[in-house]
Amino acid sequence: MEACNTVERELDKVLLKFTDINDQAGAVLRDLISEIETFKRELDQDQELTPKQIEILKQSVSKVRDTVHRLATDHRESHSTVSKVGKAIDRNFIADFASTSREDVFNGTEKTQLLNQVICQHFYRQGMLDIAEELAAETGIKTDDSKKEPFNELNKILDCLKQRNLEPALEWTKNHRDALLAQNSSLEFKLHRLQFIRLVQQGPSSQAEAVMYARKNLTQFVTRHEKEVQSLMGTLLYLPNGIQSSPYSHLLDPNLWLDIHDVFTKEACTLLGLSVDSPLSVCVNAGCTALPALLNIKQVMQQRQVTNIWNGKDELPIEIDLGKQSRYHSVFACPILRQQSTENNPPMKLVCGHVISRDALNKLTNSNKLKCPYCPVEQNPEDARLIYF
Ligand SMILES: [Zn+2]
Repeated sequence: MEACNTVERELDKVLLKFTDINDQAGAVLRDLISEIETFKRELDQDQELTPKQIEILKQSVSKVRDTVHRLATDHRESHSTVSKVGKAIDRNFIADFASTSREDVFNGTEKTQLLNQVICQHFYRQGMLDIAEELAAETGIKTDDSKKEPFNELNKILDCLKQRNLEPALEWTKNHRDALLAQNSSLEFKLHRLQFIRLVQQGPSSQAEAVMYARKNLTQFVTRHEKEVQSLMGTLLYLPNGIQSSPYSHLLDPNLWLDIHDVFTKEACTLLGLSVDSPLSVCVNAGCTALPALLNIKQVMQQRQVTNIWNGKDELPIEIDLGKQSRYHSVFACPILRQQSTENNPPMKLVCGHVISRDALNKLTNSNKLKCPYCPVEQNPEDARLIYF
């Protein structure tokens, strides 16, 4: 961020200089042009030039030449300010990420193909079908239509939602009602709510239609969304004067439309067993967040001349917190073996309450007795219980 600010300051300087030059040049040229035009009008009236006019003409010509020369110099000078921005970018941003990446990761046709597949899936997911198809054709990737179809459908519905067309989304939720209810989704209610709000927004003329709509579509939600349905019914009282100036004005919040977009994506992805975000964008974002910390540690390592400690194994040299949104599931790292637990080596809770991995437990067991490495209560390792996160 600091780097961005530094470059932005240089950029401000350039912009300021440009405006200055522009204003100044504009004013000078305007004066010059009007002066010459006045003189031209004078000349038009007389047939022959008087010696005085010849003198003035000479002066004007030399003035024009001087001005052009000065403007050219100013313009040339502005180049140095522009090149300073380039230098500031070079100084403040690191272009060499070689030390933080491992090129061998994508070596070999199989791995390249996997990478292409991931990129391709990302484009399908984002609804950029033409790019995905092109990439697939160029790299020879074959994707089942059955895999593409859900993305096509979702993207079409989301496009319609952006244009405030609720119909396709309502149709979709109707077809998936049972599954959505099973995951306790309120998507269908939220869609009907928006449709109802749209009707009451049209004023008293749409009252009958709104009431009909509510009877037909909202009654099913009364048990689960009692308060919200009550609010919606309350709006009917304020139809003559407009809902904008009623206690229900919050229902007109345009954010509800943004919200429905997110809710739909989330619910639909959960239903289809897809992650809400594209795995590729998650990886790229995680990488971007982690990079500054990695570059910092690299610098520190270079300064202390301990660069060979971290030579790009499967582990990062430091722990990097990517924030809450990147935490998908709890992990357990065995405090003894310093390894993450796996299905074959799950976390085990000892009688005293301390948790270690099963491998550690087996290693520490001595003639059917185990001394907890932490407290150290002696116990029977068979009493330890597997725990699930
Ligand atoms: Zn213990």
